[in-house]
Amino acid sequence: MSLAVPERINEKYCRNPFCSRTLQGIIMAEESIFIKIMKGDIPADLVYQDDHCICVKDINPQAPTHVLIVPRKPIQRLADASAADKMLLGHLMLKAGDIARLLGVEEAFRIVINNGEGAGQTVFHLHLHLLADKTFSENSLGLN
Ligand code: 5GP
Repeated sequence: MSLAVPERINEKYCRNPFCSRTLQGIIMAEESIFIKIMKGDIPADLVYQDDHCICVKDINPQAPTHVLIVPRKPIQRLADASAADKMLLGHLMLKAGDIARLLGVEEAFRIVINNGEGAGQTVFHLHLHLLADKTFSENSLGLN
């Protein structure tokens, strides 16, 4: 996937007054691995970014195509989202479709959100897994 990507993922956003405010809030929050990626502190294979989210390739892919769609706002779990996040959650879903098209997998992909340790969540910053290019069983909601 080749897109024009700034050398440091957040280069563009750090100079933008709107996003600086957003970043300030983020910096005050708990620093998840995704925040470190957004700040450019650790490298990631960036697929897409906008004012509200980033999409990076998963470091430990569970399918030939496996990317993570992460809101810039550090919501810990889906269950922690509030009514104020309605637009953001809608944005993430719409971007999932756009990113699937970008990756050429729009005909068959699976979206997974793990909520809480018991559901397999390991990074406590809401994210959507987009998985594709493998055969998913019709009657399985897992990765099989
Ligand atoms: P969860 O288990 O919370 O639903 O998903 C976290 C995902 O983040 C995992 O699939 C894991 O492989 C991925 N991950 C963990 N650390 C990193 C990292 O440093 N970079 C990237 N790109 N993905 C990561």
